[in-house]
Amino acid sequence: MTERLAPEQLTRAAALLRAGGLVAFPTETVYGLGADAGNAAAVARIFAAKGRPRFNPLISHFAAAEAAFAEVRADDRARLVAGRFWPGPLTLVLPRAERSRIDPLTGAGLPSLAVRVPAHPLARALLREAGVPVAAPSANRSGAVSPTTAAHVLDGLEGRIEAVLDGGACPVGLESTVLDLTGPQPLLLRPGGVPEAALAALLGPLGRPGAVAEAEGGLKAPGMMSSHYAPGLPVRLDAASVGPDEALLAFGPPLPGAGATWQLSEGRDPVEAAARLFAGLRWLDAEGRRRGLAGIAAMPVPPEGLGAAINDRLARAAAPRPPA
Ligand code: AMP
Ligand code: MG
Repeated sequence: MTERLAPEQLTRAAALLRAGGLVAFPTETVYGLGADAGNAAAVARIFAAKGRPRFNPLISHFAAAEAAFAEVRADDRARLVAGRFWPGPLTLVLPRAERSRIDPLTGAGLPSLAVRVPAHPLARALLREAGVPVAAPSANRSGAVSPTTAAHVLDGLEGRIEAVLDGGACPVGLESTVLDLTGPQPLLLRPGGVPEAALAALLGPLGRPGAVAEAEGGLKAPGMMSSHYAPGLPVRLDAASVGPDEALLAFGPPLPGAGATWQLSEGRDPVEAAARLFAGLRWLDAEGRRRGLAGIAAMPVPPEGLGAAINDRLARAAAPRPPA
């Protein structure tokens, strides 16, 4: 049984975390599946509950920047962007500190660690109360659409985790931007809730991780696997028209004739669209299958601001699936 905890039951959630339990909790990006990042057995259970095929590195979450920077070697660039964007949807990948308490499994044995201070008030309160760094990937089964409500979490993980702390819908709705500062050139590992341009304004142009094969261990950021965030129905991008046998992910005035429609943002606001993206993919998938539709057609979203991260997630949802 998975306990569904109200915000007032925060101390229960924190106690479960300290005891090695798995607790899903809301952040401003998506719901995270939390475990004590210093407890190898608890972290291993994250991979088992999600059905992750291998030990991808997890982001460790902290209540405050000083706590995060105790686990890594933070340089001036890291302090500059953290000062501007923490708490918030930015993850920094930095060299691991020699005395870090984070279990090696959390970092998948890498010499670097990914750290973040989330902004969601309930997440911050939970992290403060727990008093331990909390490893947390998105609280969904591996490869599935990320959860932005407690109900989404339970859809995939009911019975597999101790509890979900219900804080309502996530306001940003897209995962954090992942910025690698382990080398001289800052690298954008994953577009996300902080737009690239906002980081480039402080650091100069961001590089991209080199083209890496999806071979074992060959990924700089495993969340960059090409098929990810995938609903059950196939996804078609850049739809200019839609058929009655398709479900439509609309952005702005919807194309006519779809079998079902989810509006990301009538007024074409990328911030609103980001917050509604994952809920929309889930709804279209369920509704489309209920009605016997053949697929999901997504209208184009301009790549400005959060539009870049939205397109990144849509491209992964549409990518060829690995054989089951
Ligand atoms: P998620 O599983 O959704 O929390 O995504 C975590 C993201 O952070 C993935 O893209 C990971 O590959 C990335 N990440 C975490 N730790 C590291 C690290 N040490 N080096 C590179 N990327 C990392
Ligand atoms: Mg994920």
